[in-house]
Amino acid sequence: MTEEQKKMTAQERLAIPRQQMPHRDGIERSRDFKEVNLGLSEQVAIREAQRCLQCKNPKCVPGCPVGIDIPGFIGLIANGDFLAAAELVRKDNDLPAVTGRVCPQEIQCEATCIRCKSDTPVAIGWLERFVADYQMQHQNQTPLPTPCRGRQDTPANSLRGQARPKTGKKLACIGSGPAGITCAGQLAKFGYDVTIFEAFHRAGGVLIYGIPEFRMPKSVVNREIENLKALGVTIETNVIVGRTVTIPQLMSEEGFEAVFIAVGAGLPEFMNVPGENLKGVYSANEYLTRTNLMEAYNHDSDTPIVRGKRVCVIGGGNTALDAVRTSKRLGAIESTIVYRRSRVEMPARVEEVHHAEEENIRFEMLAAPVEVLGTDDGWVRAIKCIRMELGEPDESGRRRPVPIPGSEFTIDCDVVIVAIGTGANPLLTRTTPGLKLNKWDYIEVDENFMTSIPGVFAGGDIVRGSATVILAMGDGKKAAQNIHKFLSAKL
Ligand code: FAD
Ligand code: SF4
Repeated sequence: MTEEQKKMTAQERLAIPRQQMPHRDGIERSRDFKEVNLGLSEQVAIREAQRCLQCKNPKCVPGCPVGIDIPGFIGLIANGDFLAAAELVRKDNDLPAVTGRVCPQEIQCEATCIRCKSDTPVAIGWLERFVADYQMQHQNQTPLPTPCRGRQDTPANSLRGQARPKTGKKLACIGSGPAGITCAGQLAKFGYDVTIFEAFHRAGGVLIYGIPEFRMPKSVVNREIENLKALGVTIETNVIVGRTVTIPQLMSEEGFEAVFIAVGAGLPEFMNVPGENLKGVYSANEYLTRTNLMEAYNHDSDTPIVRGKRVCVIGGGNTALDAVRTSKRLGAIESTIVYRRSRVEMPARVEEVHHAEEENIRFEMLAAPVEVLGTDDGWVRAIKCIRMELGEPDESGRRRPVPIPGSEFTIDCDVVIVAIGTGANPLLTRTTPGLKLNKWDYIEVDENFMTSIPGVFAGGDIVRGSATVILAMGDGKKAAQNIHKFLSAKL
């Protein structure tokens, strides 16, 4: 921190209001897929960083699932040392350009920031994104090393750190979402030959097929994938483990000494109401995959998708918000969220709800579908709902929605998208004898992320159930350390 910075008193810092994230106009952006938030300028980032009180006992750090040195990196920003700030973040977080965009900071680090007591928290997430983007822009020119197996990593890359000498051991990661990417990167740095097997034709997991471009630019994810390849990780796409090859085959026939399962929880759940099989009803998973991964947003693409004029999305999480905002961008005149609780209970990121409102998304709160109504030729024509009121808290701690008898009403629509949650896909687990699952069919692991099969580890959503990007990354990192310990002990 500069002398001038050090001289700033707490009062002066407290007097600085939270800076604003510049973003595109709500109506204009709801017609295209370009990113909503534009990022902080250098001056604004420094100003925001000056709001940090540099607490001796920072409450924000325990609020971060991977324990980033938050006052440390913010102090470096305040000092104008953006690259050093990025380096410091990357010590604990391999994908800051991703998490700076999608982490629910308002319930994590920012929720525990001491400034919440007097006004608004330091914008930790926006600052994280700022340093990550700054680093990408300013170190882009440095060529990535072409396969750098066993060589020293360049400072230009994320997932950095010194690669150790090659061990000659082969390891497999199944799934290329945040858990698989992080684990593979760490293992490559330990000197292992790592192969990621991915079912889709592109790597990135939910970051590529689920979260839309207007929130998570694919160029950011692609760059991280390139960095991973530069570390020597092989990515084999179009391989469905459990169908193309099984885990026992990978270990006994193909010589993989350990496996990390990171297949996520992408099996859609449905409402189980009459009419759910009508044409025009999608799971959010399918709708978003068609749009993002299979590029249905592009008018030249031959991916079929029903571009509804009136779209109802059922659910209140990030997936529901992504689907409803996507439907607007695909040309809907009216896009509505139908959610059975009230706004306070919505699990979606607060910023996304706010952005959706700016894009004229309609919110039908305290309502739940009871039937999807169809035309004579089997297409959706409306959704019948019932009004709800909130009762006592349920096991999730949120107040339980209770139907109000006789309060049914209908909403006209031609597309219904169901975004009420996902579960574990049984394809891999059913073909892996001896793999212990819990009562929800997620994989059971011990404190070292090892499953009931020695040498087979797991993490991310397939262990936790649908969670967050940062938790999946944390699992990937810890699992890599434990895989390394496990294999080192076998030597
Ligand atoms: P995933 O990201 O699901 O990746 C799993 C990968 O494994 C996929 O690529 C899949 O194709 C592959 N796979 C599956 N089965 C097989 C198989 N048998 N063989 C080979 N490969 C296989 N979290 C946030 O923190 N913030 C957000 O804003 C946010 N928004 C979200 C929006 C949407 C639409 C969705 C769906 C989720 C969102 N999440 C968000 C949750 C977050 O994306 C997940 O918690 C996280 O991606 C889980 O990471 P993962 O690595 O465990 O699995
Ligand atoms: Fe800065 Fe807030 Fe963390 Fe204190 S709690 S160090 S003010 S970000």
